[in-house]
Amino acid sequence: ATAAGDSTLREYLEHSLTSGSGSGLPLLIQRTLAKQISLAECIGKGRYGEVWQGYWHGERVAVKIFFSRDEASWSRETQIYSTVLIRHESILGYIGSDMTSRNSCTQLWLVTHYHQLGSLYDHLNRVTLNHHQMMKICLSAINGLVHLHTEIFGTQGKPAIAHRDIKSKNILVKDNGCCVIADFGLAVTHVQSTGELDVAPNPRVGTKRYMAPEILDETINMDCFEAFQRADIYAFGLVLWEVCRRTMSYGIAEDYLPPFGGLVPSDPSFEDMKKVVCSDGQRPTIPNRWLCDETLTGMAKLMKECWHHKSHVRLSSLRVKKTLAKLAQSDYQIHLDVE
Ligand code: ADP
Ligand code: MG
Ligand code: MG
Repeated sequence: ATAAGDSTLREYLEHSLTSGSGSGLPLLIQRTLAKQISLAECIGKGRYGEVWQGYWHGERVAVKIFFSRDEASWSRETQIYSTVLIRHESILGYIGSDMTSRNSCTQLWLVTHYHQLGSLYDHLNRVTLNHHQMMKICLSAINGLVHLHTEIFGTQGKPAIAHRDIKSKNILVKDNGCCVIADFGLAVTHVQSTGELDVAPNPRVGTKRYMAPEILDETINMDCFEAFQRADIYAFGLVLWEVCRRTMSYGIAEDYLPPFGGLVPSDPSFEDMKKVVCSDGQRPTIPNRWLCDETLTGMAKLMKECWHHKSHVRLSSLRVKKTLAKLAQSDYQIHLDVE
């Protein structure tokens, strides 16, 4: 083909890409990936950017748009999703990243599968759960965390990864009721054979409400990878508590409450959290009604073993997974007996 032919083809392609949008959607005519996506609806706005639902070759996708001042999170998240063997049914599916310019501003895009039910936080605010739904959420979420935490050896292996921002807003709910873990902007990786600990040069730290006591009192050993995994488990224990409050037993469930809701203000400071979690040693309270329910009693014991003050006695993610699997098994048995 001639150069002229190429440019005609290019114009034709661009025309066909832009004309398919309909309904006045903001259309982005950019480089590779971004160029193929039309944004439809803003589904989340934060201090660090926006999340949009968009279309990519007719498929609904989520587009996380980072402000250029948060390039560190974008490049970290892109790096983590580019890790070999990261793909897993309990990890948010990654499509690609792009650096694009729109209205002459640099925009950093991260494109993933879209989940219409949104975050676990949104889901728990909307619905109550039966035992089966609760177990599905907890088991799938811990499967995702085990996959992250586990190093896979070999030339095509995967490093161990600690998330560092585990919370119900960073776990998404799929249509089938299982969860995926998302938001890897703060993750750290570790390879045992080299002892190489890769803490991203990211000035942002995790969410204060979910910070483990050793982060709040600054005794955490930042050179030790396991320390980050233990902090993930602490936060995971708080998520289990959020989920169990919404789990029905004898027709009753508690209203949604964030961890330490009522004990700290809505956007708690580091000092607020430090006082409640470290000085006063407080943890979320276990409602009395849970203790009339074998499964919720087991869940209460499990979460306490996750949010223990001493990080080294907390359960590993693999241990949490095994305990949850056992609880799910006996819960299933109990409900068979009832019928
Ligand atoms: P941030 O780093 O700004 O917290 P997140 O990746 O956590 O960004 O996304 C922010 C919010 O956007 C999530 O809490 C969730 O409500 C929504 N969201 C993010 N990704 C998706 C997705 N793939 N599908 C549906 N909702 C999503
Ligand atoms: Mg988030
Ligand atoms: Mg984030």
